[in-house]
This record gives sequence, structure tokens and C-alpha cells, in this order.
Amino acid sequence: MVRVFRNDRLVIASHNPGKVREIAHLLGTFVPQVDSAADHGLAEPEETGDSFVANAALKAHHTAAGTGLPALADDSGLVVPALDGAPGLHSARWAVRPEGRRDFGWAMERLTAALDDRPNADRRAYFVCALALAWPDGPCETVEGRAYGCLVWPPRGDRGFGYDPIFVPDGHDVTYGEMEPAAKHAISHRADAFRQLVARCFRR
Ligand code: IMP
Repeated sequence: MVRVFRNDRLVIASHNPGKVREIAHLLGTFVPQVDSAADHGLAEPEETGDSFVANAALKAHHTAAGTGLPALADDSGLVVPALDGAPGLHSARWAVRPEGRRDFGWAMERLTAALDDRPNADRRAYFVCALALAWPDGPCETVEGRAYGCLVWPPRGDRGFGYDPIFVPDGHDVTYGEMEPAAKHAISHRADAFRQLVARCFRR
């Protein structure tokens, strides 16, 4: 049976203030108080899962157990089937240069070079956003949102983050990086995941 959220507090299992703000905004009408794991002094667990959903669930369980409150976690990335699913779970790590600096320009170059290495490689790709909502007594609800599209080169647009400048969502001819943020948010993998989670677990 689905566990419906009926508490008045929720902890977001993230230390990224931008992410916490965005999620608080998305769920503000359902939850009076939204905290972050950092507010509770909790360290982030290692992401050892073998899927986006598994990683989201382990972060949500860790935070729910550490705070005694329901906790929401996400895990996301870009999947390119022609590259056997890469960068996938390693989407953030692909952008870490050997000397340790984060550089998504470099990650996008690596990706396009990997596709160029495979003759006639299919440039289709999809973003995934997994969400997990865990309660301290054990139950956990998970959903996975997706957004399908095609990879282009060179990168276009500077509005988004990560791999946005090389991803053209289906039904559009501009990249996520060229779109108005509100237009991206309406069709993104994250929007898809939140719509599913709200329909399943939140009541007005
Ligand atoms: P995490 O879920 O915070 O671990 O992020 C995983 C990585 O996936 C990010 O660092 C980005 O590289 C990539 N990613 C996830 N969502 C998006 C998106 O909407 N646009 C571009 N890149 C994304």
C-alpha cells in the first residue's frame, strides 16, 4: 500500500542550497516546514547503489534514520544508450578533471568524442530523475522521471547547467541550455518525477 505524506515537516537529503530551495518551492503547498540535511548536521552517505532509484533511496533512508523525520532524496543524470548507458550514474563524476576541477565543458567534449568513436552511433539520450521519500519507521516510496531527446554538437545556450547545452528535448529544436528556465522546468525529467511523487504521496 502507498504511504501518503501526512507530516508537517520534511527533510531534503541534500547539502546543495539551490536544490533544497527548488524542492521546497515545488512542495511548499503540501509541507509547512522543509529543512535540509545540512540543517540537521548530517553527512551525505556514499552513493553505492546500482541505479538512480537505489541511490535516491539510500540517501532518503540515511536522512530519515538520522533525523527521525520523513526525508526526500533525488538522484539524476544523463543516459546515452549508444554508450551503454554512460555517463549515467557517473554524470557528475564525468565532469571532474584529473586535477580535481569540475568542468562540464570538458564532460560534454568527452561525451561527443565517445560518440564520434562509434561509427553511426545513435545520438538519442535521456535524462533521469529518481526521487525517494522515506519515513523513519522504514517505508520508502520511489519514482523515476525521464525526459527524452537528442545530443547535438557544438553546445548551445548558457541558461542551464550540466549537460543542458547539448540536449535537445523531443518536440523542440532548442537545447535545454537555450530554453527559458520555466519552459525547461515544465517538461524536464525532474518535473516528471515530481508530478508522479505528488500524485502518489501528497494530498492538498
Ligand atoms: P546529482 O543528481 O546532483 O548527483 O546530479 C547528477 C548530474 O547529472 C549533475 O551533475 C549533472 O551533470 C547531471 N544532470 C542532472 N540533471 C540535469 C539537468 O537537468 N541538466 C543537465 N545536467 C543534469
